[in-house]
Amino acid sequence: MARVAFIGLGRMGHGMAGRYLDAGLTVAVWNRSKAKAEDLIARGARWATSPQDAAIDADAVVTMVADDAASRAVWLGSDGASTSMKAGALAIECSTVSYDHAVRLARELQGRGLTYIDCPVTGLPDAAASGKLTLLVGADPADLEKARPFLAPLSSTIRHFGAVGTGTVYKLINNLMGAIQIAGIAEGLAMAEQAGLDMKLVVEAIESGVAASPQVIRHSRRMVARNFEGATFTASLRHKDAAYAVALAESLLAGPPLLGRAAVEAYGRAKAVAPDDDEAKMIEITSRPKGAA
Ligand code: NAP
Repeated sequence: MARVAFIGLGRMGHGMAGRYLDAGLTVAVWNRSKAKAEDLIARGARWATSPQDAAIDADAVVTMVADDAASRAVWLGSDGASTSMKAGALAIECSTVSYDHAVRLARELQGRGLTYIDCPVTGLPDAAASGKLTLLVGADPADLEKARPFLAPLSSTIRHFGAVGTGTVYKLINNLMGAIQIAGIAEGLAMAEQAGLDMKLVVEAIESGVAASPQVIRHSRRMVARNFEGATFTASLRHKDAAYAVALAESLLAGPPLLGRAAVEAYGRAKAVAPDDDEAKMIEITSRPKGAA
């Protein structure tokens, strides 16, 4: 039976690891804090004492952790997965990381005889748990073919952008556009609130108007209702993605990425106040009357 090691059992990773159990693979799991693994262990996953332990004998190691630092630690740390992986095994990085990190990590892991798949995802935690993510892949075509049996439990939607790193390029573009839209809707709604408009009417008008997008529609009602229950995507993660995307934009574009920089600044403020709360809380920071401290 195929063996997979899954590392990082946060909001996204927990559901993704469960998909491998549902598919009948032999699964080893590791997370920095063990509590998040308990129900997966009860379902048959082996608890590993480190990423290195999880990766022993694995045909594929899949990671879903917060950022570059976490990714570096779980792959390349002294007890990182790459220290025990067998030659030719698949290294599938699903976390949203910076472009520079994705390319450097690929080079490092390939140098250790491993097959690297750049595989960030779109979709919320419910899509992660139900196998309905969209996988944004950057990989050599032959490597992608080899990886398909390990990607299938996560999704049937694979967008192959090209060589390693291109999946991350697209993911960062996607999330920067999302950050700009969400910060924009917060600013628009804040103006409407402070001007004393009927917010029910404002939301109806926004949702049926030309400025609506799935992001705008997803967030506007929740922002007006101050409904931040069950954070799916935090201010801290949105800030991280926007900052990685702006660094990439600065390396590609002649002019400064002004909207991206504004989104980084806006999410920097949200992160300072409520890093682990839902990104929609941006409305609380934005909707304050002129002159408020
Ligand atoms: P999360 O719930 O905050 O989980 C983060 C995971 O990273 C946890 O397993 C955490 O371990 C681990 N981690 C953090 N720092 C670490 C370190 N230094 N060493 C080892 N492990 C570390 O985040 P999430 O929402 O699942 O997101 C995970 C990744 O998916 C991120 O890159 C995010 O940008 C991306 N993503 C998220 C969504 C979404 O809707 N949430 C959608 C698409 C992509 P602990 O449990 O011990 O803290």
